[in-house]
Amino acid sequence: MRTSKPVGRFAPSPSGRMHLGNLWSCLLAWLSARSVGGGMVLRLEDLDPDRCRPEYCDQVMRDLEWLGLDWDNEPVYQSRRTGLYAEAFRKLEGQGLIYPCFCTRAERLAASAPHRSDGTAVYDGRCGRLSEGQRAELEKIRRPAWRVRVPGEELSFADLLQGRYAENLARDCGDFILRRSDGVYAYQLAVVVDDGAMGVTQVVRGSDLLSSTPRQLWLQDRLSLPHPEYGHLPLLLAPDGRRLAKRDRDQELGRLQTRYAAPELVGRLALAANLIDRPQAITPRELIPLFSWEKLPGEDLTL
Ligand code: GLU
Repeated sequence: MRTSKPVGRFAPSPSGRMHLGNLWSCLLAWLSARSVGGGMVLRLEDLDPDRCRPEYCDQVMRDLEWLGLDWDNEPVYQSRRTGLYAEAFRKLEGQGLIYPCFCTRAERLAASAPHRSDGTAVYDGRCGRLSEGQRAELEKIRRPAWRVRVPGEELSFADLLQGRYAENLARDCGDFILRRSDGVYAYQLAVVVDDGAMGVTQVVRGSDLLSSTPRQLWLQDRLSLPHPEYGHLPLLLAPDGRRLAKRDRDQELGRLQTRYAAPELVGRLALAANLIDRPQAITPRELIPLFSWEKLPGEDLTL
């Protein structure tokens, strides 16, 4: 039984301005934690140097504050925590779970069966079967990425909103990359290490990450970290039914701020979340007593 107070988290990727979908996840993650007197931490997932910039980190924090969302402690920057990821990587290596993968992008695609429900590919594990000699030859011509070897067993968990979700990692996911060939540690590893190190007990995020969760639960076990509870939110869709992306400029916060005051925008999100029953301006703090998981919609929606 958990006796200490729950801890939720914001984990935005500072690769551009936040859009309505990011605000939706942040608002509901915050309400879920604060409505039970829980803590809230902020982690900037800025590991990818090609996509993330320091000025976006500052912007994310200003945008959360503008919306009326706060967090405890100093923000954590993943780009400054490489040592922790390296340590976890070595632990997994010590368990004989890591192997180098020399496939190019094209080879990776060819080596993959596209039978995941979310359309992503399942790697067939071919580099895990290379002999020492073959590895040595390939090392001369290419820097490898590093994969973790997953078991063919079913992993399941009870999501706060989506119910039970199960995956067989070997069949549905395949050996996945933990470190890219340019040395950057992968999201799956960093997120598990950080949720553990930051004492996160509740992960609330978009349902696009539902299928990452079995991988994360499995890594938590390998690294002797506790399992947080998970709530995967329905996605907000663009008017044409696509998922919102950073390129949808009219749903981006800079644009939204020219049309709405923060409480109006929060009110739109709260209405979509069934926390209020008519359009009204409202602050996150005023929503705290109105929040409950039972009220949230299960299906993706268009705002
Ligand atoms: N950084 C990820 C994103 O912005 C979220 C990761 C997570 O919540 O686990 O999509």
